[in-house]
Amino acid sequence: MKKLFVKTYGCQMNAYDSAKMADLLAPLGYATTDVPDGADMVILNTCHIREKAAEKVYSELGRLKTLKADKAKSGGRMLLAVAGCVAQAEGAEIVARQPAVDLVVGPQSYHRLPEMIARAFLTVQEGCDKFCTFCVVPYTRGSEHSRTPEAILREARQLADKGAREIVLLGQNVNAYESNGWSLAKLCAGLAEIEGIARIRYTTSHPRDMGDDLIAAHGGNAKLMPYLHLPVQSGSDTVLEAMNRGHGGDDYRRLIARIRNQRPDIALTSDFIVGFPGESDADFEATLQLVRDIGYATAFSFKYSKRPGTPASTMRKQISEDVKAARLAVLQKLLLEQQYAFDDSQIGKRLPVLFEKVAREPGQIMGRTPYLQPVHVQADAAWIGQVAEVQIERRTANSLHGALVQGQSA
Ligand code: SF4
Repeated sequence: MKKLFVKTYGCQMNAYDSAKMADLLAPLGYATTDVPDGADMVILNTCHIREKAAEKVYSELGRLKTLKADKAKSGGRMLLAVAGCVAQAEGAEIVARQPAVDLVVGPQSYHRLPEMIARAFLTVQEGCDKFCTFCVVPYTRGSEHSRTPEAILREARQLADKGAREIVLLGQNVNAYESNGWSLAKLCAGLAEIEGIARIRYTTSHPRDMGDDLIAAHGGNAKLMPYLHLPVQSGSDTVLEAMNRGHGGDDYRRLIARIRNQRPDIALTSDFIVGFPGESDADFEATLQLVRDIGYATAFSFKYSKRPGTPASTMRKQISEDVKAARLAVLQKLLLEQQYAFDDSQIGKRLPVLFEKVAREPGQIMGRTPYLQPVHVQADAAWIGQVAEVQIERRTANSLHGALVQGQSA
């Protein structure tokens, strides 16, 4: 079950509506919880009667943004929704002021909530046996464990029945998935047969678990999106060994070459840690070289920070904060250049876009390309939850923009 936290402000009517929303989301696998920490979805059901009601909602959203970021760091996803009278009154302003908000739903649209969750997140695997020296997951989440394919396929069918068009398979080490002889590739093949599911993604993966059949699936399973988050953390063999990653920089390069051989247009993303204990200038340069060699669509990069109880936290030769910050700035500049280059390469193309939500500008909706890039389009909200062809016209800092190809109906 996924955890749903609903915070209700104001009158009895709102309490009634909160219960109604929980009922609507129950068929999608959501069960209510008493705390927002770790929830898969948080709804603030707001009230506009009291003075400064909107400001209270914004400050609460600020706190929730942090919880959402924490969840993302551990490979999970928290959907953040604002409902009720503040949603009605402030509308798109909410997303403009707090971009972490995924959904804004007025009191007249609660029944559409399930459709609004066009993308469903399905946990298939938990735990990790890898023991990277910087990471607490193997200690906190225990060893790798996979859910049965029967349970996953059943849940996916229910989600598809309720309008989910995209399934995102989640796991700390999702490509280590194994249950009753089923690999992740076989699971993706099973999901591809479910009517209504148009897109499949999975996250987060480890390079050591990219099996031959999963690589082949990127060429053969048309519903498996051309997008892969495959963290490498560093390009230096010395650092990778100290991290206990179990592969070197060239192993990763060869792996990417095999994946691109199957799916040349695949969008690659990664995680990087800069300033791992002992990281020299030459080690850092090796990371930059790996980034140049691979070419990422986007990536997440962080300064190394000690996690209590992990081997790296007591390693000698910890790197100073100044050096970490300087290296991070250099890496992020390079990654941003690559992101813009990748986004620019889509301009002029016609791409299928799955629409997810109403955007900030009036009359605008937001969706995702197969490569997970956000796209903004002037179009009717009836497109939300559907895939449509979009002619990509331009890029702004964080999004592509385009126009619906004529002749399609929502
Ligand atoms: S693979 Fe490494 S970084 Fe990922 S969860 Fe396991 S120990 Fe942590």
